[in-house]
Amino acid sequence: MKEIYEKLNKDPERRGELGPESRFKFNCHKGISCFNKCCGELEIFLSPYDIIRLKRRFGKTSGEFLVEYTDMVVTDKNKLPFIKLRMAEGKQCKFVTKEGCSIYEDRPLACRYYPLGFAIGKRTMTEGEDFYFLIEESFCKGFKEDKEWVVKEWRQNEGIVKYEEMNTDWIEVILNKKLLGKGLVPDEKTINMFILGAYDIDAFRVFVQESAFLKVFDVEEEMLQIISESEEELMKFAHRWLRYALFREPTMFLKKAPPTAPEKDRGCDTCK
Ligand code: SF4
Ligand code: SF4
Repeated sequence: MKEIYEKLNKDPERRGELGPESRFKFNCHKGISCFNKCCGELEIFLSPYDIIRLKRRFGKTSGEFLVEYTDMVVTDKNKLPFIKLRMAEGKQCKFVTKEGCSIYEDRPLACRYYPLGFAIGKRTMTEGEDFYFLIEESFCKGFKEDKEWVVKEWRQNEGIVKYEEMNTDWIEVILNKKLLGKGLVPDEKTINMFILGAYDIDAFRVFVQESAFLKVFDVEEEMLQIISESEEELMKFAHRWLRYALFREPTMFLKKAPPTAPEKDRGCDTCK
């Protein structure tokens, strides 16, 4: 990890940094010799909005989708679990067909970005600006094509803008400095809370409706109406709750002041 940050801290030209107005040559189409080669031997991490789009596509609850289609990844470095798409045997993506991606309209954000990578610098150890870069895999012939893109047009064309708008509070959760540093050592309760607020939207809905949540948190009637009508808004609300519950950020308000929680107590015991 340290080496990656050192590379990212080199001057922008040497690290191939692209901005929204930068241009790159690329074209991906069914007739290209490498068609579908990029859909195997890869790890696709899912954002909460990816999960919502995909569980709807398959007519599943979020819990059912997570069990059937994903694996949970926990390492010493990331502290809290991330979700990745479970690959078929042979490490091919389960959704690739001879015709291409069978879930194209709901493909994950990572697939939409490719061949661009996105580095969020402001809240990480690099403390720089966000930037894009090209992921040039040797098997990908798309770079040899003549079609030219501007980064911001690629983002529009691939539907990335909508996904990023949905992930705004999520980014604030996963890039919180307390997670990157030593400020948070999650116990089992914290991990379960994270899974509930981050990935299991249907269980989170039940949690809001059936636990003491609404007795504890001051949620305006208008907001209750919004989150009852829109799963996307419920997801954003869940992320704001995570920011409060994990980091004590002022993203939620209590109905009455609780006893001051000791610094080390990071759980959200108030809603049991
Ligand atoms: S390898 Fe590159 S050009 Fe080939 S199908 Fe995948 S993205 Fe398209
Ligand atoms: S989800 Fe679609 S685009 Fe992404 S790896 Fe699978 S088949 Fe390819």
